Amino acid sequence: MSGSCTYCGRDFSAANPRTVEHLVPMARGGSRCDPENRGESCAECNAAKGTMTDEEFRAQLRNEAFFDHARPAIKPAMTDPVERTIAEALDRAGIEWVGDTDPRAKRLDFFLPIENVHIEVKRFHTDRTAEQMERSENIIVVVGLAAARAFARMITKRDDG
Ligand SMILES: [Zn+2]
Repeated sequence: MSGSCTYCGRDFSAANPRTVEHLVPMARGGSRCDPENRGESCAECNAAKGTMTDEEFRAQLRNEAFFDHARPAIKPAMTDPVERTIAEALDRAGIEWVGDTDPRAKRLDFFLPIENVHIEVKRFHTDRTAEQMERSENIIVVVGLAAARAFARMITKRDDG
C-alpha cells in the first residue's frame, strides 16, 4: 500500500489502511459518487472525522489535540508545544494520564486518574479559564511556556518502592 493520509500524513499500512472518505459526508448531503467529493484518509482519521466536513475536521485538527493512532480514544498526540512539554514529562515520570479526548478529562487538557487531578495548560491567559475552572474541584493550571517547562522539570518519577 502506498500513499499517505491527507489529514495526519501517516503512510497507509496494513495496520492503518487507506479509506475512501467523503469530503462532505453523505449524512450532510455530500455525494457518494462524485469524484470531487472523494478523498483518501487513513481509517483512524476517517473514523475521527465522522460526519464532519473536510473543512470542519481540518479546523478541529488545527485547534485541538489529535488522536494518537496507537490509543485513539485516550492519548491525543500533542500538537501544542506547551501541552507536549507536560505530556512528555508525565510519560517520562510514568504518571498515568489521559487527554481531553477522554470524557474523564472533562475537556481539560490532562486528567490523572490515580491522583484524581486535572491539568489545564495554556500558552496565554484567556477569558475561558474561569469557566474551565468550574469543571472540577482539583485542577492544576499552567500558563505560559516558561511555566510549563518549570512544571515539567518538577514532575519526577514516583518512588513506588
Ligand atoms: Zn490519518
